Amino acid sequence: MSQPKPRVLVVGGGITGLAAARALARDGARVVLAEAAPRLGGKISTERTDGLLLEHGPDSILATRPAGAALVRELGLGEELTGTLDPRAVYIRHRGRLVPMPEGLGLVLPTRFWPFARTPLFSWPEKLRMAKDLVWPRLLPADDIAVGTFLRRRLGSAIVDRLAGPLVGGVYGTPIDELSLDAVVPQLRKAETEHRSLLRAGLADGAAMRAAAAKRPPGARSMGVFVSLRGGMGSLVDALARSLSDSGVDVRLGAPVASLRRAPSGVLARLGSADAPDEAFDAVILAVPAHAAAALVAPEVPAAATALREIPHGTSILVTLAYPRSAVAARLVGHGYLVPQSAGGAISACTWTSEKWPGRAPSDTVLLRMFVRDEGAWTQLPDDELAEHARRDAETTLRIVPGTAPDLVRVARWQGAMPRYTVGHLARVAAVEQALTAWPSVTVAGASYRGVGVPDCIAQGQAAASRVAELLSAREAPVELVPAV
Ligand SMILES: Cc1cc2nc3c(=O)[nH]c(=O)nc-3n(C[C@H](O)[C@H](O)[C@H](O)COP(=O)(O)OP(=O)(O)OC[C@H]3O[C@@H](n4cnc5c(N)ncnc54)[C@H](O)[C@@H]3O)c2cc1C
Repeated sequence: MSQPKPRVLVVGGGITGLAAARALARDGARVVLAEAAPRLGGKISTERTDGLLLEHGPDSILATRPAGAALVRELGLGEELTGTLDPRAVYIRHRGRLVPMPEGLGLVLPTRFWPFARTPLFSWPEKLRMAKDLVWPRLLPADDIAVGTFLRRRLGSAIVDRLAGPLVGGVYGTPIDELSLDAVVPQLRKAETEHRSLLRAGLADGAAMRAAAAKRPPGARSMGVFVSLRGGMGSLVDALARSLSDSGVDVRLGAPVASLRRAPSGVLARLGSADAPDEAFDAVILAVPAHAAAALVAPEVPAAATALREIPHGTSILVTLAYPRSAVAARLVGHGYLVPQSAGGAISACTWTSEKWPGRAPSDTVLLRMFVRDEGAWTQLPDDELAEHARRDAETTLRIVPGTAPDLVRVARWQGAMPRYTVGHLARVAAVEQALTAWPSVTVAGASYRGVGVPDCIAQGQAAASRVAELLSAREAPVELVPAV
């Protein structure tokens, strides 16, 4: 008699949970996906209104991480992929002026010498300080260290405060002097190990990239480092939802998982409400932020809950503004600007969405996506005050006719939802995974652990599905009978 198919619960319908559920269903499991909110997507949240396409969460997929674009293509959305518009310039607001980031900047290291040597972003003494990196010996300790601390030692503080901080710290919503090197930019450790000097490593990378580009057929233009979908990131969620429905996944919305208990066959879960009957599952994937996972595993594996609660989370707030183009005096040539922490103010970055992506706004409209600095005082402010700070920042930086009211204002608040990869992050994740070996039927995946970007979350969801498949096939495997001697 054939075994019944295993029944697996995926908790959380963000991109991690959706990717996990799809992979499990393809492996032949019976899957229930439980999402607390009334909609799928988690932080992926696309709104279409009055000819505008607004992203209240992620707006792009890092093309260098293959899991993202690969899933998009598998879902038949390959033609929907779009790169960013030219020119791809980004500016740093330095002493009140928008200074272009030097061309050929890699993650934080220059891949070309002259644009960096000529940039007005750094004084000559600051550039000479950076050049000391060429002669320093290797400085990295064996243990994890803050990205800021390491870069300050090698290259000086100017590059940290004006480039690396706004760029890398901004993406991770964590001050660069707290951000884990090993979790966030392990390539810097590799660069120092292999080349000793970071500047040499950056220039060597640049030469390799240019050689690869020269091999492309003439006229072929790379989509760039960031890609998105013409219909917005929400179309990825819609396509995943269709794929789950086609493969018979039982998707339950407005169904928070209230509790998990150990059972002989795996897990008993209570979905939807506290008085709902328990349902039995062979395995569970927790694709929810670490603090939500902690609450669910606490009764059975308190040590795992403690380890999960050690992963800190911050708040991310996005203010979207739309202005009539006629009111914006500055020429918007590029994708937006970053504001170093030392400049103060509530806004850490502003993306000119209408200039960055095709089809996001009518041609007579400028669409801006402004990030609020994740510092207690700012994130505590109510929405209307934050919108006012964003409006004033845009007004002065982009020379918007004073007093022009934006045509549209939206504030998206992701309270306590952004994992902070602080120094020691990977050790904390390893502690979580180790503690959970006490309950092998339960596994965790998602932004809190091994990468916050959408492609990393997809890869983690798929990897969690593989772990579950392995676990279940090991349980099914017939026990080998050893003959008695
Ligand atoms: C403003 C902003 C901009 C960003 N920009 C980018 C970008 O441009 N590119 C990029 O790659 N990444 C970006 N990110 C990061 C990326 O969006 C997230 O890291 C990723 O979407 C997280 O996916 P997830 O599935 O792990 O978690 P989530 O999206 O948080 O999903 C978790 C889900 O679990 C549900 N849940 C929680 N508890 C329970 C429970 N008990 N029962 C059932 N369900 C539960 C939640 O409701 C939620 O839907 C951005 C993030 C933010 C906030």
